[in-house]
Amino acid sequence: MNRPIPGTVEVAVRHILSDKVTGFLVRTRSITWKDSVFRVRRPGTGKQTVELTCPVCDASLLAEVRTEARARRTRIVLRVLAVLCVIVFFAALAYAVHEGGRTLPEGQSLPALFPISIVAVFVTFAVTPVLFIHGRVHNGVSLLDAPKPRRRHSLRPVKG
Ligand SMILES: [Zn+2]
Repeated sequence: MNRPIPGTVEVAVRHILSDKVTGFLVRTRSITWKDSVFRVRRPGTGKQTVELTCPVCDASLLAEVRTEARARRTRIVLRVLAVLCVIVFFAALAYAVHEGGRTLPEGQSLPALFPISIVAVFVTFAVTPVLFIHGRVHNGVSLLDAPKPRRRHSLRPVKG
C-alpha cells in the first residue's frame, strides 16, 4: 500500500488487450487488460487537464483532474443518492406488492402509479450498486472523451 501524498492522486490507465464474447446460448465475456499506475497532481482550484501516455501502446490520453475537496463532495453526493435509491426501492416495492396483491372490483384498473412503481423498482435495483461503488472510489479524475486510438482505455481509481 502506498501512502497518499497530499495534492496528488494515483490513477491506473487500463489498456484493454482483448474483449471477446464467446458462446451462443450461454455468452461468456472475457476481457484482458493491463493497468499502469500514474500519479497525477491535483490543481489548487477548479479542474485541470493532464496528459497520460499509455505505456502499452503509446496512446496519449487526456484526463480531467479535480481538487480533493471537489472529489470528496462528489463522493458524498453519490452516497446520498445511493441511500435515496434504497429508500425509493423499498417504498416502490412495498407499494407494488400492496397494489398488485389486491383484488380489484370489476371494471376498476390498477392506479397509474402501479407501473411507475414497477419501473422504479427495476431502475433503483440497477443503479444503487453503481452509486455505492462510485461513492466509495470516486477520485475526481475522469477520462475525457477520446478519439479512436484511445477508445480501448479506461481510468481506474487506485486505493491509497
Ligand atoms: Zn494503450
